[in-house]
Amino acid sequence: MSCELKVKERAGVINPIFTCQPCGAQYASIGIKDCIGIVHGGQGCVMFVRMLFAQHFKESFEIASSSVHEDGAVFGALNRVEQAVDVLLMRYPHVKVVPIISTCSTEVIGDDIDGVVRKLNQGLLKEKYAGREVHLIPIHTPSFVGSMVSGYDIAVRDFVTAFAKKGEPNGKLNLITGWVNPGDVTALKHLLSEMQVDTTVLFEIESFDSPLMPDKAEFSHGCTTVEDMAGTANAVGTIALNRYEGGKAAQYLESEFDVPAIIGPTPIGIRNTDTFLQNVKKLTGKPIPESLVRERGIAIDALADLTHMFFADKKVAIYGNADLVISLAEFCLDLEMKPMLLLLGDDNPNYQNDSRIKVLKENVDYDMEIVTNADLWELEDRIKNRGLELDLILGHSKGRFTSIDNNVPMLRVGFPVYDRAGYYRHPVVGYAGAIWLAESMANTIFADMEYKKSREWILNVW
Ligand code: SF4
Repeated sequence: MSCELKVKERAGVINPIFTCQPCGAQYASIGIKDCIGIVHGGQGCVMFVRMLFAQHFKESFEIASSSVHEDGAVFGALNRVEQAVDVLLMRYPHVKVVPIISTCSTEVIGDDIDGVVRKLNQGLLKEKYAGREVHLIPIHTPSFVGSMVSGYDIAVRDFVTAFAKKGEPNGKLNLITGWVNPGDVTALKHLLSEMQVDTTVLFEIESFDSPLMPDKAEFSHGCTTVEDMAGTANAVGTIALNRYEGGKAAQYLESEFDVPAIIGPTPIGIRNTDTFLQNVKKLTGKPIPESLVRERGIAIDALADLTHMFFADKKVAIYGNADLVISLAEFCLDLEMKPMLLLLGDDNPNYQNDSRIKVLKENVDYDMEIVTNADLWELEDRIKNRGLELDLILGHSKGRFTSIDNNVPMLRVGFPVYDRAGYYRHPVVGYAGAIWLAESMANTIFADMEYKKSREWILNVW
């Protein structure tokens, strides 16, 4: 009986769990107000990513491409960045922040995006856009290392590094949410407002759940401003909810500006939400109010109705972003379930030293596998060929055919979710998220019991 952390042995990837680094940088950039990123690469590096965002949120997002072609791949394509910046600024007079996001091709050909930013700052911006506030931020996200998760982490760090500026203390708390949904941001803001904590949310994507207004003019965009990012250097502290999605920025603010940083835990489940609130209290001195104790009690009551009766010993496979997967596994263990297989879609060497994985290794009393650099074939192969029996799969929509083909019920969690309606609206974090996750897992299992006529009579007498 053991919990083993291993790297996928097979070369190549079949049905990847993640997309590439520029995707993460694009996700961070759409969380900033008055920002349109230019992805320096082929158009597909934007087109497919925008499609994922649109599929997940059922909204449209604005991201630009330098549209590199064959000549650029041979002779260099920095001229296309210069043209793209000019066209973007002409066409969008409100734009202030323009990250230049590199890709695999432009990193391989060696395009110097830092150099072109210096050149544009000295030339185009002074000559043609004098007096206009424009920030060009180079972000290096070659796709042949890391994943969309590390791309997000790098971009968040680079934005904070570019803007954070020491000034007067502002008494605010920095909250780096990581790769979450609008419903999560709403839930987190609710917890912090109950504690009366003034917070800077990086990156504020609650408005991705945007209205359709009579003039049809609404475009989804984030709400984090340049001023918000500048003020992060003057906060009472930073909480990065996810170690691999914002942890670097929190560390930077601590080392550069002495802003105390607490990284994790991802507040999924009761235990981790409790720790999150304790961390907020520690950094701000604000007490945890009775209203949140009551919300906690409602969540525990909801979980108690389900845990022993329906969740005990249920075998689960979980895949996706590491912070999400690990905290979902922790929550499942609290619910008496058995996470059998955790698939992390990249090969971040820091997973080896992740304290949460160490705790799992020390405490799990059955056979659990944690596979890094994993793909969805790792899941399918175990179900089809290696006798892995599962009661539930937790993961994003890319694994839907593994669930359908093998008759294993699945709850969609993570990014992207495009084959279920409105999931971005529901939180997985906080006490509200614990209720939603547990009840959604239970309802998924209930529907499967009825479909397979497997002890479905229990639901009559529950
Ligand atoms: S792998 Fe390379 S070419 Fe493909 S989308 Fe990512 S950055 Fe673009």
